[in-house]
Amino acid sequence: MSLHFIFTVDGDWKAYFNRNLSEEKRKPNENTLANLIEREIHLAKSLLNGRFIHFVHASPRAKEYFSKPQFITLWKQIEQNGGNIGVHCHEEDPYLKYYYNQADRMRKAITDLAQGLKSNGLSPKSYRGGFMTFSPKLIPILEENEIFIDFSCEPGRYLMHGDKLVSDWRNAPTNYYRLNYKDHRRSGDSKVFEIPVGSANGNFLNFEKSSLWKIWQIARNLKKQATENIVVSVLAHTYEFSQPLKLLKIKLGLLILRIYGKFINVAEAREVIGN
Ligand SMILES: [Zn+2]
Repeated sequence: MSLHFIFTVDGDWKAYFNRNLSEEKRKPNENTLANLIEREIHLAKSLLNGRFIHFVHASPRAKEYFSKPQFITLWKQIEQNGGNIGVHCHEEDPYLKYYYNQADRMRKAITDLAQGLKSNGLSPKSYRGGFMTFSPKLIPILEENEIFIDFSCEPGRYLMHGDKLVSDWRNAPTNYYRLNYKDHRRSGDSKVFEIPVGSANGNFLNFEKSSLWKIWQIARNLKKQATENIVVSVLAHTYEFSQPLKLLKIKLGLLILRIYGKFINVAEAREVIGN
Protein backbone atom coordinates (compact mmCIF):
# COMPACT_ATOMS: atom_id res chain seq x y z
CA MET A 1 0.00 0.00 0.00
CA SER A 2 1.49 3.31 -0.92
CA LEU A 3 1.17 6.98 -1.73
CA HIS A 4 0.73 8.11 -5.34
CA PHE A 5 0.71 11.60 -6.78
CA ILE A 6 -0.49 12.91 -10.12
CA PHE A 7 0.99 16.28 -11.03
CA THR A 8 -1.66 18.34 -12.83
CA VAL A 9 -1.26 21.68 -14.56
CA ASP A 10 -4.38 23.66 -15.46
CA GLY A 11 -3.67 25.36 -18.79
CA ASP A 12 -4.89 28.83 -17.82
CA TRP A 13 -3.29 32.19 -18.64
CA LYS A 14 -3.69 35.18 -16.30
CA ALA A 15 -5.32 37.64 -18.70
CA TYR A 16 -8.32 35.33 -19.14
CA PHE A 17 -9.46 36.17 -15.60
CA ASN A 18 -8.95 39.95 -15.87
CA ARG A 19 -12.27 41.70 -16.39
CA ASN A 20 -10.55 45.04 -17.04
CA LEU A 21 -8.95 43.87 -20.28
CA SER A 22 -10.52 43.98 -23.72
CA GLU A 23 -12.04 40.78 -25.13
CA GLU A 24 -9.10 40.49 -27.53
CA LYS A 25 -6.50 40.71 -24.76
CA ARG A 26 -8.27 38.03 -22.71
CA LYS A 27 -7.69 35.48 -25.45
CA PRO A 28 -4.49 33.42 -25.24
CA ASN A 29 -1.30 34.89 -26.64
CA GLU A 30 -0.51 31.68 -28.45
CA ASN A 31 3.27 31.92 -28.61
CA THR A 32 3.58 32.91 -24.96
CA LEU A 33 1.23 30.12 -23.88
CA ALA A 34 3.05 27.53 -26.00
CA ASN A 35 6.34 28.63 -24.48
CA LEU A 36 5.03 28.13 -20.93
CA ILE A 37 3.66 24.69 -21.80
CA GLU A 38 7.13 23.79 -23.10
CA ARG A 39 8.45 24.64 -19.63
CA GLU A 40 5.89 22.26 -18.09
CA ILE A 41 6.98 19.50 -20.44
CA HIS A 42 10.64 20.10 -19.66
CA LEU A 43 10.03 20.08 -15.90
CA ALA A 44 7.94 16.90 -15.98
CA LYS A 45 10.54 15.21 -18.15
CA SER A 46 13.44 16.13 -15.90
CA LEU A 47 11.76 15.41 -12.54
CA LEU A 48 8.79 13.08 -13.08
CA ASN A 49 9.77 10.81 -15.95
CA GLY A 50 7.34 12.79 -18.11
CA ARG A 51 4.38 12.00 -15.89
CA PHE A 52 1.88 14.83 -15.52
CA ILE A 53 -1.48 15.92 -16.87
CA HIS A 54 -1.80 19.17 -18.76
CA PHE A 55 -5.46 20.18 -18.57
CA VAL A 56 -6.29 21.87 -21.87
CA HIS A 57 -8.27 25.06 -21.20
CA ALA A 58 -11.34 25.68 -23.34
CA SER A 59 -13.81 28.48 -22.66
CA PRO A 60 -16.32 30.56 -24.60
CA ARG A 61 -13.47 33.07 -25.17
CA ALA A 62 -10.95 30.47 -26.28
CA LYS A 63 -12.34 27.51 -28.17
CA GLU A 64 -10.12 27.20 -31.21
CA TYR A 65 -6.48 27.68 -30.23
CA PHE A 66 -5.95 24.21 -28.78
CA SER A 67 -6.25 22.42 -32.13
CA LYS A 68 -3.75 24.63 -33.93
CA PRO A 69 -0.63 22.77 -35.11
CA GLN A 70 1.78 24.27 -32.56
CA PHE A 71 -0.45 23.10 -29.71
CA ILE A 72 -1.20 19.68 -31.18
CA THR A 73 2.58 19.16 -31.37
CA LEU A 74 2.85 19.96 -27.67
CA TRP A 75 -0.05 17.70 -26.65
CA LYS A 76 1.51 14.85 -28.62
CA GLN A 77 4.87 15.44 -26.99
CA ILE A 78 3.24 15.24 -23.53
CA GLU A 79 1.67 11.86 -24.38
CA GLN A 80 4.85 10.54 -25.98
CA ASN A 81 6.80 11.40 -22.82
CA GLY A 82 4.43 9.28 -20.68
CA GLY A 83 2.14 12.11 -19.59
CA ASN A 84 -1.48 12.88 -20.41
CA ILE A 85 -3.67 15.68 -21.58
CA GLY A 86 -7.02 16.33 -19.95
CA VAL A 87 -10.19 18.31 -20.60
CA HIS A 88 -10.52 21.58 -18.65
CA CYS A 89 -13.75 23.41 -19.40
CA HIS A 90 -14.07 26.97 -18.16
CA GLU A 91 -17.68 27.21 -19.31
CA GLU A 92 -18.38 30.58 -17.74
CA ASP A 93 -17.83 34.29 -17.80
CA PRO A 94 -15.46 34.41 -14.83
CA TYR A 95 -16.94 36.04 -11.68
CA LEU A 96 -20.19 36.77 -13.57
CA LYS A 97 -21.79 33.62 -14.96
CA TYR A 98 -21.27 29.89 -14.53
CA TYR A 99 -22.79 27.21 -16.73
CA TYR A 100 -21.39 24.03 -15.13
CA ASN A 101 -24.89 23.05 -14.01
CA GLN A 102 -26.46 23.29 -17.49
CA ALA A 103 -26.31 19.80 -19.00
CA ASP A 104 -26.83 20.74 -22.67
CA ARG A 105 -24.26 23.46 -22.64
CA MET A 106 -21.74 21.32 -20.75
CA ARG A 107 -22.32 18.36 -23.06
CA LYS A 108 -21.35 20.51 -26.02
CA ALA A 109 -18.34 22.09 -24.27
CA ILE A 110 -16.91 18.78 -23.02
CA THR A 111 -17.66 16.85 -26.20
CA ASP A 112 -16.24 19.54 -28.51
CA LEU A 113 -12.97 19.64 -26.58
CA ALA A 114 -12.65 15.88 -26.08
CA GLN A 115 -13.56 15.06 -29.69
CA GLY A 116 -11.41 17.89 -31.01
CA LEU A 117 -8.41 16.35 -29.25
CA LYS A 118 -9.32 12.78 -30.23
CA SER A 119 -9.69 13.73 -33.89
CA ASN A 120 -6.04 14.80 -33.75
CA GLY A 121 -4.95 11.39 -32.48
CA LEU A 122 -4.83 12.31 -28.79
CA SER A 123 -6.30 10.43 -25.82
CA PRO A 124 -7.94 12.72 -23.25
CA LYS A 125 -9.07 10.50 -20.35
CA SER A 126 -9.59 12.96 -17.53
CA TYR A 127 -11.56 16.07 -16.68
CA ARG A 128 -11.26 19.05 -14.36
CA GLY A 129 -13.80 21.86 -14.19
CA GLY A 130 -12.61 25.46 -14.28
CA PHE A 131 -12.59 26.87 -10.72
CA MET A 132 -13.02 23.19 -9.65
CA THR A 133 -16.68 23.40 -10.66
CA PHE A 134 -18.65 20.18 -10.89
CA SER A 135 -22.21 18.90 -10.99
CA PRO A 136 -23.68 15.38 -10.93
CA LYS A 137 -25.13 16.25 -14.35
CA LEU A 138 -21.60 16.00 -15.76
CA ILE A 139 -21.15 12.35 -14.79
CA PRO A 140 -23.13 10.82 -17.72
CA ILE A 141 -21.53 13.36 -20.08
CA LEU A 142 -18.06 12.27 -19.00
CA GLU A 143 -19.06 8.62 -19.41
CA GLU A 144 -20.33 9.30 -22.95
CA ASN A 145 -16.93 10.78 -23.76
CA GLU A 146 -15.06 7.84 -22.17
CA ILE A 147 -13.57 10.14 -19.58
CA PHE A 148 -13.48 8.00 -16.46
CA ILE A 149 -11.39 10.09 -14.09
CA ASP A 150 -12.35 13.48 -12.71
CA PHE A 151 -9.91 15.80 -10.94
CA SER A 152 -12.29 18.62 -9.91
CA CYS A 153 -12.44 17.82 -6.20
CA GLU A 154 -10.70 19.95 -3.64
CA PRO A 155 -12.15 18.38 -0.47
CA GLY A 156 -14.07 20.91 1.62
CA ARG A 157 -14.07 23.62 -1.04
CA TYR A 158 -17.05 25.94 -0.92
CA LEU A 159 -16.51 28.81 -3.33
CA MET A 160 -18.97 31.65 -3.75
CA HIS A 161 -18.51 34.61 -6.10
CA GLY A 162 -20.96 37.20 -4.76
CA ASP A 163 -24.27 35.34 -4.48
CA LYS A 164 -23.24 32.64 -6.98
CA LEU A 165 -22.22 29.20 -5.82
CA VAL A 166 -19.21 28.24 -7.92
CA SER A 167 -17.85 25.06 -6.41
CA ASP A 168 -19.05 22.82 -3.59
CA TRP A 169 -16.94 19.91 -2.36
CA ARG A 170 -17.96 20.03 1.30
CA ASN A 171 -17.45 16.70 3.09
CA ALA A 172 -15.97 15.05 0.00
CA PRO A 173 -13.53 12.15 0.59
CA THR A 174 -9.83 12.99 0.67
CA ASN A 175 -8.74 9.84 -1.21
CA TYR A 176 -9.97 8.55 -4.60
CA TYR A 177 -13.55 7.29 -4.89
CA ARG A 178 -16.17 6.32 -7.46
CA LEU A 179 -18.58 9.22 -8.05
CA ASN A 180 -22.21 8.94 -7.02
CA TYR A 181 -24.70 9.82 -9.80
CA LYS A 182 -26.78 11.85 -7.33
CA ASP A 183 -24.10 13.67 -5.35
CA HIS A 184 -20.54 14.17 -6.56
CA ARG A 185 -19.33 14.52 -2.97
CA ARG A 186 -20.29 10.95 -2.06
CA SER A 187 -19.02 7.64 -3.33
CA GLY A 188 -21.35 5.62 -5.54
CA ASP A 189 -21.54 3.40 -8.58
CA SER A 190 -20.87 5.58 -11.63
CA LYS A 191 -18.06 4.69 -14.01
CA VAL A 192 -16.18 7.88 -13.15
CA PHE A 193 -13.55 7.93 -10.41
CA GLU A 194 -12.71 11.10 -8.52
CA ILE A 195 -9.08 11.82 -7.66
CA PRO A 196 -9.03 14.78 -5.25
CA VAL A 197 -6.30 17.35 -4.73
CA GLY A 198 -4.07 16.06 -1.94
CA SER A 199 -4.90 17.59 1.42
CA ALA A 200 -4.33 17.42 5.15
CA ASN A 201 -5.74 19.57 7.94
CA GLY A 202 -7.36 22.05 5.56
CA ASN A 203 -4.20 22.57 3.49
CA PHE A 204 -3.81 21.51 -0.13
CA LEU A 205 -1.18 20.29 -2.56
CA ASN A 206 -1.85 23.43 -4.58
CA PHE A 207 1.21 25.55 -5.28
CA GLU A 208 -0.81 28.74 -5.38
CA LYS A 209 -2.24 28.20 -1.92
CA SER A 210 0.42 26.38 0.08
CA SER A 211 3.95 27.21 1.15
CA LEU A 212 6.68 24.62 0.69
CA TRP A 213 6.54 24.07 4.45
CA LYS A 214 2.84 23.20 4.17
CA ILE A 215 3.47 20.98 1.14
CA TRP A 216 6.02 19.07 3.21
CA GLN A 217 3.60 18.71 6.15
CA ILE A 218 0.81 17.44 3.89
CA ALA A 219 3.16 14.91 2.29
CA ARG A 220 4.28 13.59 5.69
CA ASN A 221 0.70 13.39 6.84
CA LEU A 222 -0.46 11.51 3.75
CA LYS A 223 2.46 9.11 4.03
CA LYS A 224 1.39 8.23 7.57
CA GLN A 225 -2.12 7.44 6.30
CA ALA A 226 -0.86 5.32 3.44
CA THR A 227 -1.77 2.01 5.07
CA GLU A 228 -4.18 1.89 2.12
CA ASN A 229 -3.43 2.99 -1.44
CA ILE A 230 -3.70 6.75 -1.73
CA VAL A 231 -3.96 8.56 -5.07
CA VAL A 232 -4.21 12.35 -4.99
CA SER A 233 -3.37 15.18 -7.35
CA VAL A 234 -0.93 18.08 -7.04
CA LEU A 235 -2.16 21.30 -8.61
CA ALA A 236 -0.36 24.06 -10.53
CA HIS A 237 -1.37 26.43 -13.32
CA THR A 238 0.34 27.25 -16.59
CA TYR A 239 0.64 30.94 -15.65
CA GLU A 240 2.78 30.01 -12.62
CA PHE A 241 5.44 28.83 -15.08
CA SER A 242 5.97 32.42 -16.24
CA GLN A 243 7.65 33.52 -13.01
CA PRO A 244 11.08 32.15 -12.03
CA LEU A 245 10.36 32.12 -8.30
CA LYS A 246 7.06 30.30 -8.74
CA LEU A 247 8.69 27.82 -11.08
CA LEU A 248 11.43 27.24 -8.51
CA LYS A 249 8.80 26.66 -5.83
CA ILE A 250 7.06 24.09 -8.02
CA LYS A 251 10.37 22.30 -8.67
CA LEU A 252 11.27 22.18 -4.98
CA GLY A 253 7.75 21.11 -4.05
CA LEU A 254 7.83 18.23 -6.51
CA LEU A 255 11.23 17.16 -5.16
CA ILE A 256 9.83 17.13 -1.61
CA LEU A 257 6.77 15.14 -2.70
CA ARG A 258 8.92 12.69 -4.61
CA ILE A 259 10.52 11.65 -1.33
CA TYR A 260 7.15 10.55 0.07
CA GLY A 261 5.24 9.19 -2.91
CA LYS A 262 5.41 8.04 -6.50
CA PHE A 263 4.33 10.24 -9.42
CA ILE A 264 2.17 8.29 -11.85
CA ASN A 265 0.20 8.89 -15.04
CA VAL A 266 -3.47 8.13 -15.80
CA ALA A 267 -2.89 4.52 -16.96
CA GLU A 268 -0.83 3.79 -13.84
CA ALA A 269 -3.56 5.39 -11.70
CA ARG A 270 -6.11 3.04 -13.28
CA GLU A 271 -3.96 0.09 -12.20
CA VAL A 272 -3.90 1.33 -8.61
CA ILE A 273 -7.60 2.21 -8.30
CA GLY A 274 -8.96 -0.69 -10.39
CA ASN A 275 -11.82 -0.51 -12.82
ZN1 LIG B 1 -8.62 26.62 -14.86
